[in-house]
Amino acid sequence: MEPMPTIFVSHGGPNVVTDPSEARAYLEGLSGRLPRPRAIVIASAHFETDGPTVVRDPHPGMIYDFGGFAPELYEMIYPAPGDPALAETVHGLLDQAGLSPAYADKRGYDHGTWTVLRLAWPDADIPVVQVSIDPSRDAAYHHRLGAALAPLRDEGVLMIGSGHITHNLRAVFSAMREGMPSDPEMASKVDDFVGWMAEAIASGDIDALLVWRDRAPFVADNHPTDEHLMPLFFAAGAAGEGARAEHAHASRQFDFFAWDSWIFR
Ligand code: ZN
Repeated sequence: MEPMPTIFVSHGGPNVVTDPSEARAYLEGLSGRLPRPRAIVIASAHFETDGPTVVRDPHPGMIYDFGGFAPELYEMIYPAPGDPALAETVHGLLDQAGLSPAYADKRGYDHGTWTVLRLAWPDADIPVVQVSIDPSRDAAYHHRLGAALAPLRDEGVLMIGSGHITHNLRAVFSAMREGMPSDPEMASKVDDFVGWMAEAIASGDIDALLVWRDRAPFVADNHPTDEHLMPLFFAAGAAGEGARAEHAHASRQFDFFAWDSWIFR
């Protein structure tokens, strides 16, 4: 069996599920580009803990961790089961890597997880194990977190990092408020940042990627806080040494909110 690819996706707001967009179309087509996974391990930017936490909830509920969206979004469910046995395996691998994992016995799916999975695997019949990110830790830590789980690729487990390649919500909200879905200055900073990331990813230069804060242009404009980029390093780490990255999706909301995605094979 070919090892399972790993993926980084940009997840947007929960309305990605209801509003037509290029990003939604990409997520809807995602399962067609991949072998069918036996299970999914996902690290969402919206599951933040101090140190890694692995969810062993056999029936995760829903977390509507957003405000001000259409009422229908607060009624959507994603009933995919958990996988306590796989959670134990994940916990064991993180432990072996010296990452001192904890368990969460109960935790629902946050929107960084359920919107993406609902679009990509609407039947909700693939078990899901959630692993947290730690917003106080850096890219290298999240790369290690993913790398510890790389052996699961040989067991039909698909690992997904769900975050955003750029995440300046202040710019997004101000564009929405002012009805001005264009911001040429911000768009150019996003171009430069995403271009740098794309090149580092394409060249497989993990060392450069991991010091993105020092090297990439316009870091603070693209990521006022780090947490939405951490799932990228998780996915890159989980892909193992020498993986080839496919820049599988690139689109923009307004002209400066980037939805890029990579598949690592
Ligand atoms: Zn988010």
